[in-house]
Amino acid sequence: MSSIRFQALKEASNRKLVEFQETGRKSVLFGANVFNDKAMKQYLTSDAFKGVQGAVQYGTKIDRKLADYIAMGMKEWALSKGVTHYTHWFQPLTGTTAEKHDAFFETSYDGSDPLEKFGGAQLVQQEPDASSFPHGGIRNTFEARGYTAWDPTSPAFIFGTTLCIPTIFISYTGEALDNKIPLLRALSAMDEAATEVCKYFDKNVKKVTATLGWEQEYFLIDRSLANSRPDLIMTGRTLLGHTSAKGQQLDDHYFGSIPTRALTYMRDLEQECMLLGIPVKTRHNEVAPNQFEFAPIFEETNLAVDHNCLLMDVMQKVAERHDLKVLLHEKPFKGVNGSGKHNNWSLATDTGVNLLSPSKTPMTNLQFLTFFINTIKAVNDYEALLRGSIATASNDHRLGANEAPPAIISVFIGEQLTKVLAELEGVSTGKLSPEEKTDLKLNVVGKIPDVLLDNTDRNRTSPFAFTGNKFEFRAVGSSANCSNAMTTLNTIVAKQLKDFKIAVDDLIESKDMKKDDAIFNVLREYIKQSKKILFEGDGYSEAWQIEAAKRGLSNFKTTPEALKARASKQAIDLFGEMGIMNQIEVEARYEIELEEYTKKIQIEGRVLGDISKNHVIPTAIKYQNTLIENVKGLKDIFGSEFESIAKEQIILIKEISEHIEGINSKVEQMTEERKKANNLTDAHSMAEAYCNNVKPYFEIIRNHCDKLELLVDNELWTLTKYRELLLTK
Ligand code: ADP
Ligand code: MG
Repeated sequence: MSSIRFQALKEASNRKLVEFQETGRKSVLFGANVFNDKAMKQYLTSDAFKGVQGAVQYGTKIDRKLADYIAMGMKEWALSKGVTHYTHWFQPLTGTTAEKHDAFFETSYDGSDPLEKFGGAQLVQQEPDASSFPHGGIRNTFEARGYTAWDPTSPAFIFGTTLCIPTIFISYTGEALDNKIPLLRALSAMDEAATEVCKYFDKNVKKVTATLGWEQEYFLIDRSLANSRPDLIMTGRTLLGHTSAKGQQLDDHYFGSIPTRALTYMRDLEQECMLLGIPVKTRHNEVAPNQFEFAPIFEETNLAVDHNCLLMDVMQKVAERHDLKVLLHEKPFKGVNGSGKHNNWSLATDTGVNLLSPSKTPMTNLQFLTFFINTIKAVNDYEALLRGSIATASNDHRLGANEAPPAIISVFIGEQLTKVLAELEGVSTGKLSPEEKTDLKLNVVGKIPDVLLDNTDRNRTSPFAFTGNKFEFRAVGSSANCSNAMTTLNTIVAKQLKDFKIAVDDLIESKDMKKDDAIFNVLREYIKQSKKILFEGDGYSEAWQIEAAKRGLSNFKTTPEALKARASKQAIDLFGEMGIMNQIEVEARYEIELEEYTKKIQIEGRVLGDISKNHVIPTAIKYQNTLIENVKGLKDIFGSEFESIAKEQIILIKEISEHIEGINSKVEQMTEERKKANNLTDAHSMAEAYCNNVKPYFEIIRNHCDKLELLVDNELWTLTKYRELLLTK
């Protein structure tokens, strides 16, 4: 009997539920481990508190002396909660988060005067040994090392016994080495551009904040079962495994009652989230067996991104307490749904208005339409760049693989708003007559809130859908850091709003138009120019692929193809103009993402070669030997009659040999292709070679293995099967 699999099954079926009891009400626990306003008021002098507030709200600088005071208060707060270490917590260009712990504890050189020390210098800057973080050539060029620097806009928090200080990661020459710096720059560009546009409608608006509410999908698998699969451990997904007879066909999991063990895990996780100030609100089953979702109340984007990164980390740690493993991979199992991370996105003013929410008056609705149409135009003009921002080896299994959503970026707005845009497209060129304006106000712009209420048609196949008061970017991968997608989206919309302001001002000044007339005129042109991106039909259909090609929309099914847009002239110009990233920073990211793709496929290829040759083939041979023994025995007993009696066994013996031959020869060919690819020097050619010449072997090898799984005696099979991984609760 194969030991690891059966040992794991035994452990999984003997599990006792790990008890968990909440220690208090959510509202009381919320933010208890966060250095938030409440804690700051208690531990900081009023000057220090004001300093942090100014930095958060208006980006004012904090000087060294003030930093010392803030550090002192932060340290006292942390020590009062039993903290021993601090770390600068940051988001390097691959993986999600990184940290290096230092103890507060210090002594004099001779070991005397032990004390807990933490000053402004340690708060503001830390130099991790950064030489092995990906930098895409930036640091080589400048021979400079990177350092981390405090981001006061995201509050410090305690995890375990460590004070975590959210930071940016930057090279000494000023290039961003992380995901946070471009995001912060994009959010600031968005604030600037959107505030200017808001002033057409309300002079009191001083700040616009981009908001993000992510929805995190994941699988939850018994730890022993997950650990029994080398492919899950090393690649995050199963590289082989025959589909389970029962999968998601019955839809009996989706929104069903949450299994007790999973629910206990979620309650424990929710409590951790509360302490960390992550406002999780929703939990439910997803479509596939053992697949679930977690969603928070939306927040300011930088904070929401930090919270999602933190959540992904905490999910795994809490899972250990429940003998579970969290799979964040976009496609851990073939044949059942993969996981995504919908990014719900909107814009909010400091006067409390959601700019993507229609409201009661024609004037505020014109504001809504302005932001709505500008967003559509931005996605229209930069669809390829947006697609590039979510391209990874693991997300390729969803995008472009007949699964939600397609690789083609399009925008869904619903029937009602489609009609509104059609009406607006008909407005006159130049100044509008008073009658036309009245008609627009009464019958088009003024009617939006009413019509939206019954706009229940929510197209689940659209990668970028308007859902009543926000856009939902659904193509982001479940394991991704949202910052790439959010940096890109906010940058393209900021750029679009900036252009809009210039166009409207120009009509007002040079054509002597009224503000409203100018806005209607510019929006009309935008609607005409953005037709190709709007799509209301079935995004998974064959017909859409053909139609999208006719419209000239990109359809990049693989990461190497999709990534090209990340470093195109259009991208370099855009990020440069908006002050988000310079050419070096843009190109560095492109290189790093290509390399990451190559490495992921390389590892998958090696692991698949290993398990198919070292697990599958030996098992198949063992079973084949049993069959051979059986046939020999039958021959002994029945003599020449044996051929008809042992007919089926003989067919099986031959079939097994064919699959073994298939695996061996394909693994060999795949290895040859890897060798060839490794000899390439250019990152893009290498990624393409892995994509086009190495990866195609995965399916062929897998098919042979999966066929063998069906043929071979269950007792001999060493790899934990799909039904065991997916249906064990
Ligand atoms: P689903 O897509 O699963 O049907 P919803 O459409 O209700 O669920 O989306 C809920 C998500 O949308 C939540 O994460 C919520 O925080 C987020 N959300 C709601 N309003 C906004 C907003 N103005 N800005 C950003 N995110 C928002
Ligand atoms: Mg959603």
